[in-house]
Amino acid sequence: ENVREMEKLEAVSEKNEATGSRILVFVRLRPMFKKEREAGLRCCVKIVNRKDVYLTEFANENDYLRLKRLCGRHFTFDASFSDSTSQQEVYSTTTAELVEAVLQGRNGSVFCYGATGAGKTYTMLGTVENPGVMVLAIKDLFTKIRQRSYDGNHMVHLSYLEVYNETVRDLLSPGRPLVLREDKQGIVAAGLTQYRAYSTDEVMALLQRGNQNRTTEPTRANETSSRSHAILQVVVEYQVKDASMNVINRVGKLSLIDLAGSERALATDQRTLRSLEGANINRSLLALSSCINALVEGKKHIPYRNSKLTQLLKDSLGGACNTVMIANISPSNLSFGETQNTLHWADRAKKIRTKAYEANVEIQHLPESETDLASLLLEVQKEN
Ligand code: ADP
Ligand code: MG
Repeated sequence: ENVREMEKLEAVSEKNEATGSRILVFVRLRPMFKKEREAGLRCCVKIVNRKDVYLTEFANENDYLRLKRLCGRHFTFDASFSDSTSQQEVYSTTTAELVEAVLQGRNGSVFCYGATGAGKTYTMLGTVENPGVMVLAIKDLFTKIRQRSYDGNHMVHLSYLEVYNETVRDLLSPGRPLVLREDKQGIVAAGLTQYRAYSTDEVMALLQRGNQNRTTEPTRANETSSRSHAILQVVVEYQVKDASMNVINRVGKLSLIDLAGSERALATDQRTLRSLEGANINRSLLALSSCINALVEGKKHIPYRNSKLTQLLKDSLGGACNTVMIANISPSNLSFGETQNTLHWADRAKKIRTKAYEANVEIQHLPESETDLASLLLEVQKEN
């Protein structure tokens, strides 16, 4: 039965491979805290050759080889990062290519998945000393733009939003909840702040302030547990004129997503209010897993409409987009179940193919007089 199921999936994957690109899936193990070691917790994850992940219950972590033939305990990903991997290396391996593609007018998205405390926010936002993927991506983007400034004009806009309890909020300008609308570019949050960014320095401060606006509430299981999903959208517009003086517009969108903890609501002892929130978090993550399942199985109908999160991720998962998933895992034997769960989902995500895509390029054929004006504008912008 299982073999037939696998063959079916393989066939679907091969068919999709011809027309689209695969989601790249990475795993990152966070270091064991001193506190955890002192409490007698053991490391139950072993990463080998920057690819293989072994989940081991043995006291001796070098016993992992015994697991080679144990189904469900050995996983392999596009790359697996051990607990000593730097932020820069995680960025370069997972996201640098997407930043390059965004400059060409293609969309990209990176999302971090995993239980609370597994290192999602560290990976995405990081700290001032060790900035994460969001900050390194924007830094790299500005460096690349500076290198190419001779051949056109770029504009970078940032939006930072949160999905909490099936409500969408603007993290850069907190206020009333935002309404999702469908327009020709896909699903957008109406009224979302588009912050024009000029340099990297201001961005870290901006994102940290935004992150403080995230809804985080203590639960008994973990004081820093977060039930909110945070999405940073970086839109890069590029304008250049070709040999025949047509103005060419290119727009690329990069979405960087820090998902809420994937642990089941049952894992924490919750009050009535909490259980409502828990149910909604489940709704978004559950909807995400249903979408992943439907995509893996090559279904025609993908249930994006089931949650705010999946509506917002629609073009990242099934659309014309380069997609990267980073699964964050904790090392300790206490997290064994969650880690196995996360690895299982990450393993399934490897089978998703996104659509083949073209760059978002628009050519404006302007009448002569306007062309002059446009080229003059470009000259002026170049000089600045
Ligand atoms: P999550 O967002 O998944 O709930 P966090 O990113 O907040 O988890 O990580 C939990 C704690 O572990 C934080 O204090 C964070 O700084 C630390 N941490 C996570 N990953 C790493 C890492 N790779 N290196 C050093 N510290 C880490
Ligand atoms: Mg977090």
